[in-house]
Amino acid sequence: MWRVEKGEIVAVIVDPLRGRTRPGPSHSDAEIIDVLTGLAPARSTAGPGAKPKVSNVPVTDWAVLTGAGMSTDSGIPDYRGPDAEPRKPMTIQTFLSHPAQRARYWARSWVGWPRMLRSRPNPGHLALARLPVIGIITQNVDGLHQAAAEVVDGAAPVVDLHGSLDRVICLGCGRLYDRNWVQDRLTEENPDFVETAGLDTIDPETAPDGDVELEETAHFRVVDCPRCGGILKPDVVYFGDSVPAARVEEANRICETAGGLVVLGSSLAVLSGLRFVRSAVRAGRPVVIVTDGPTRGDELADYRSISRVADFLDDWTQRAAAIGALRRIQGDDEMLRV
Ligand SMILES: [Zn+2]
Repeated sequence: MWRVEKGEIVAVIVDPLRGRTRPGPSHSDAEIIDVLTGLAPARSTAGPGAKPKVSNVPVTDWAVLTGAGMSTDSGIPDYRGPDAEPRKPMTIQTFLSHPAQRARYWARSWVGWPRMLRSRPNPGHLALARLPVIGIITQNVDGLHQAAAEVVDGAAPVVDLHGSLDRVICLGCGRLYDRNWVQDRLTEENPDFVETAGLDTIDPETAPDGDVELEETAHFRVVDCPRCGGILKPDVVYFGDSVPAARVEEANRICETAGGLVVLGSSLAVLSGLRFVRSAVRAGRPVVIVTDGPTRGDELADYRSISRVADFLDDWTQRAAAIGALRRIQGDDEMLRV
């Protein structure tokens, strides 16, 4: 069920979480937050089956990996969370091989972009930006961690593991375009599209039937690279696509510098995220997973919370505030504001 190609693979053909059940918590959230804030020593396993080793050195320099569960409170759907509907993701192969699929993608993307532009960081994004973590690696492509970091002094670096929807790349010459520029070009090319297509402009993701939709979007005029005529693709990693090596290295640097890894709101269904958990385990670094639902890393986690990410971050933030460890919101003297 996993495609193997060179480089970093994120292909999921069959849902790897099927049949897994929601685990119980390993500790209370308060106990886990003691570990995260360095008030209690962190336990870590040196590898599957290995004897757990207990470090007496508190870990305070955590790296964080975030997934879709981080952004659901910002109105961005979670395709794998407990309430998610089964959905067949677009693969890079489909995108490249069928002009009708490209038209369908860009039609939906064009309709949905204004809503994406309106999405704002939720309290969880802001809380995480203020916590003293050393770096955030995200599987999300919504740019909301960066938006939260903009208002926080000295926020940690963010790596967009799977790219970002606000950029579009030409597959011919590699040139990058601003997504808003592409939006304007698509609008020029498709002046009457909304009236004729019947797409739900409030929530294009709820479009009912793939085939009906393909028929209706087939006449959507896509835009090619003005420089070389190449195919334009959002600069995100599709299923079946590879994470660029430089981005993986950047994420690895954060993880290798960190004392431990915290996973927030990810089912770790794709290998590109799970690999960081496996690396941490191999290196004997503690792993904390906070996700409401089963994950592929459950048996590797030293600490497991099944709380909602937003609730957990709220508790973590309050504890960090109490010991004066929160980063400041720019121009805000109220240290406890979240
Ligand atoms: Zn080009």
